[in-house]
Amino acid sequence: MKYDYLIVGAGLFGATFAYKAKKTGKKVLVIDKRDHIAGNAYTKNIHGINVHEYGAHIFHTSDEKVWKFVNKFAEFNNYINSPVAVYNDELYNLPFNMNTFSKMWNIKTPAEARAIIDAQIKDLHITEPKNLEEQALSLVGTDVYEKLIKGYTEKQWGRPCTELPAFIIKRLPLRFIYDNNYFNDRYQGIPMGGYTEMVKRMLKGIDVKLSEDFFEFKKNGNKLSDGTKVKFNKLIFTGQIDEYYEYKFGALEYRSLRFETEELNEENYQGNAVVNYTAADVPYTRIIEHKHFEFTKAPTTIITHEYSKKWEKGAEPYYPVNNEENNALYEKYLALSKKDKNVIFGGRLGEYRYLNMDGIIADALALAKKEL
Ligand code: FAD
Ligand code: UDP
Repeated sequence: MKYDYLIVGAGLFGATFAYKAKKTGKKVLVIDKRDHIAGNAYTKNIHGINVHEYGAHIFHTSDEKVWKFVNKFAEFNNYINSPVAVYNDELYNLPFNMNTFSKMWNIKTPAEARAIIDAQIKDLHITEPKNLEEQALSLVGTDVYEKLIKGYTEKQWGRPCTELPAFIIKRLPLRFIYDNNYFNDRYQGIPMGGYTEMVKRMLKGIDVKLSEDFFEFKKNGNKLSDGTKVKFNKLIFTGQIDEYYEYKFGALEYRSLRFETEELNEENYQGNAVVNYTAADVPYTRIIEHKHFEFTKAPTTIITHEYSKKWEKGAEPYYPVNNEENNALYEKYLALSKKDKNVIFGGRLGEYRYLNMDGIIADALALAKKEL
């Protein structure tokens, strides 16, 4: 079989590029080592509930083009992410907003909240935050940092906040209004029917082979597991760039996750899709109750405890750890890849960047425009 493009990874990057390539008349083959499409956005329907198998995925964007693009393949509901945080026996709204401050300090006005935060940070003398701890303290003061950030972040990243880059926390909005919407983006929602259905529509009419690991394929002289020989002009690779180059400069660092999913014989377990557990002594970071993403009516419910864990070769690489050391290592792989004219790296792992789904799709659309 002969193709213009072999695309490794049936996640959102691979599926977006594949869709565009097919539209311009290119012949593409998509392979994935997993037994399903949609990458980390994959949802599995269990007893009528779409379960986010690799963690909660909420689509949000301010990019008009990306929003129009995804709406071709799915109808989005009006879900607004409003997680709550549990710290010991206290419960707070996220992201950090007037509801959080009002509960924490029993106050009502933005001026009162500002005054408390200012009083808490005045002696810290942080002018230019050097790390996540300084960044968080200078934005929200000691109470919010100690109760809602420190424990969660150190569990999530497995290292002290003083050793983490400030940008991680900059993703979270901070507001002095009563608004629990976790995101600032113009558009937000969940594709009704699940992400897998959405990606299936993107890949309609495209050859897709699942349970095919690229490295096995390569080892077998570009043969699929059924023995079919594949010829292709160009490779789009959305797996790990360091693995592609056999870790020749060393392994990039990732953070991995462990999910424990169970079905409960009750209708509504926690009353919200996402509940974060911010205390250091609770081993998991959050509990997801999947039915609330799509307002699903079902007699039972499915919940997932999410645990963060150290990444080792072979484990699922969920989050790139973008500190200076790893970014420098990535630059070496990037330089090497630039010499390789027949392969293009893309996606969260190929680009070694912490990107949301909309950013991934925007990148794939940009690549398609340039390449096709
Ligand atoms: P992936 O989805 O990881 O797809 C890559 C695919 O390549 C995988 O299916 C993999 O099996 C395959 N692959 C890798 N190596 C090989 C190989 N050697 N051979 C064959 N196949 C291979 N984004 C949001 O916008 N909103 C959210 O709420 C959100 N929540 C998230 C929560 C968690 C816990 C995580 C980890 C991420 C979250 N994201 C969220 C980010 C989102 O998952 C990514 O932006 C998106 O899935 C990246 O798409 P991708 O195609 O780059 O990678
Ligand atoms: N964070 C926190 N407390 C929370 C939620 C998030 O301190 O209750 C911090 C934490 O450092 C985390 C970062 O904010 O890594 C980004 O959170 P987000 O929910 O965007 O992470 P993701 O859903 O991508 O894991």
